[in-house]
Amino acid sequence: MLLEIEDIHVHYGKIAALKGISIAVDEGEIVTLIGGNGAGKTTTLKTISGLRPLTSGRITFAGQDISKMPGHKRVLAGIGQAPEGRGIFPGMTVHENLLMGAYARKGEVKAELDEVYDLFPRLAERRTQAGGTMSGGEQQMLAIGRAMMTKPKVLLLDEPSMGLAPMLVAQIFEIIQKINERGTTVLLVEQNAQQALQLAHRAYVIETGRVVKSAPASDLLDDPEVRAAYLGGD
Ligand code: ATP
Repeated sequence: MLLEIEDIHVHYGKIAALKGISIAVDEGEIVTLIGGNGAGKTTTLKTISGLRPLTSGRITFAGQDISKMPGHKRVLAGIGQAPEGRGIFPGMTVHENLLMGAYARKGEVKAELDEVYDLFPRLAERRTQAGGTMSGGEQQMLAIGRAMMTKPKVLLLDEPSMGLAPMLVAQIFEIIQKINERGTTVLLVEQNAQQALQLAHRAYVIETGRVVKSAPASDLLDDPEVRAAYLGGD
């Protein structure tokens, strides 16, 4: 397994947000975490990227225990994150925002820039525009593009479709698929369970800080409980 999360517990003060979550992501996969509001999906991603400390449990990445590794070292190790709410630099141009993604990494950036501009032609067209004046969907593309500039082995995506019009949602999902086909493993958190399950290979359902189901994504699309709770189905 490329990424293995074993029995992690995470607290905000006295509140237990994660109560023993175990998740594994194999190289080449798209794995999605679905679940309702406050289930612990964002916290799980933040704990993997090192933004939240573990109370207990273990995270292993590419064979190395990273449970206590600082976040910036995890980026260098190959964990890239496009955070919820995007977090781009509004006063910097698109191009500068992308360069910031590669800032911590030594060496050549041109190949990655070319790759990102190829994935997101819109960003190439707008490379001199200020990030803050881009539309919501464009900012989401920029956040993903910036994460790709770190050359991640695994890309963590938190609600990439949030607030986007349906056509843009479809575009973002296509791009995630392309990123995966070009060799990057993806761990995707989504409220949009239907589309996430159509895209992903495997999925975990999280409720109140625990994994309640894990299965191939296509199985969950047909699962009556999942349909009733998360797919607006019968
Ligand atoms: P959503 O889909 O609504 O974003 P989520 O599954 O991503 O939800 P988390 O954001 O991980 O859920 O939150 C898990 C739990 O931790 C929730 O009960 C939430 O209220 C709590 N929580 C999250 N961030 C904080 C914080 N900074 N301080 C206190 N409690 C928090």
